Amino acid sequence: MTIVYLNGEYMPLEAAKISVLDRGFLFADGVYEVIPVYGGRLFRLQQHLNRLADSLAGIKLPNPMDHAAWSSMLEELVARNDGGECSVYLQITRGAGDGREHIFPEGIAPTVFAMVSPMKPVAPELLQNGLQAVTMDDNRWQLCHLKTTALLANVLMRQAAKEQDAEEAILIRDGYATECSASNLFIVDNGVLVTPPKSAHLLPGVTRDLVLELAEEHNIKYAEREIAEAQLHNAAEIWITSSSKEVLAVTRLNGVPVGNGQPGPLWRQMFDHYRAYKAGLHQEGTGSE
Ligand code: PLP
Repeated sequence: MTIVYLNGEYMPLEAAKISVLDRGFLFADGVYEVIPVYGGRLFRLQQHLNRLADSLAGIKLPNPMDHAAWSSMLEELVARNDGGECSVYLQITRGAGDGREHIFPEGIAPTVFAMVSPMKPVAPELLQNGLQAVTMDDNRWQLCHLKTTALLANVLMRQAAKEQDAEEAILIRDGYATECSASNLFIVDNGVLVTPPKSAHLLPGVTRDLVLELAEEHNIKYAEREIAEAQLHNAAEIWITSSSKEVLAVTRLNGVPVGNGQPGPLWRQMFDHYRAYKAGLHQEGTGSE
């Protein structure tokens, strides 16, 4: 039985109910996180909680818990669900007022919800052959650094990519590639690993930061700089990163092979470093990372 957390209580998924006046439902007035769990341990938990705190501050919603309280609640939730390879979805909305009013209602409690879902392993074909991506105009707002539940634009772009037989949409804003519909973007340009700098146009991905940390640690040359659309099309390698996809190579862009059309050598190196990092944390066996 799946046990979820809702507003201070653990309960079966079927028993978890919220009001139709919840502002998450009416206005997408909320934020979320997705945190992988490997071997029962929450991966990069502190980084996810830091980003959660930033997202909450960005929508002017006081953080209902401190890091220690979040950690113990999430660890308890994982333990109550057999742990293993899964991910935690955590959502906080501004709560339910007594009607539908744009202005923040006073004195309402936020809705805090968390659930554990099985983690789908990345398909072996995607690791072997890479994935297809298509470029698309980024039609989102100017607050893409906040992880809000207002994901309709991302959903529509991801669906449009699927309808073109692609697994991901790479988003272009004012002639520059920023990120993807549900992942961050890296290219290999003249031997240098490049990712766009953090800004209001992209989500500061936890996986993105880890890839940069691993590049630093393993002496891989990298830079955080803008990626013009032409550079994207001429890149030797293109990668996407996210908590669920980890690091994947894009091997066809708009139907055209990237490099030789196979996952590139730097991707292979980074993929191995990423997997080794994960495996190392498993072995340490103390607390969540
Ligand atoms: N960018 C967007 C728009 C996302 O939705 C996500 C994750 O879902 C990411 C980037 C990657 O973030 P992370 O590595 O923290 O999962």
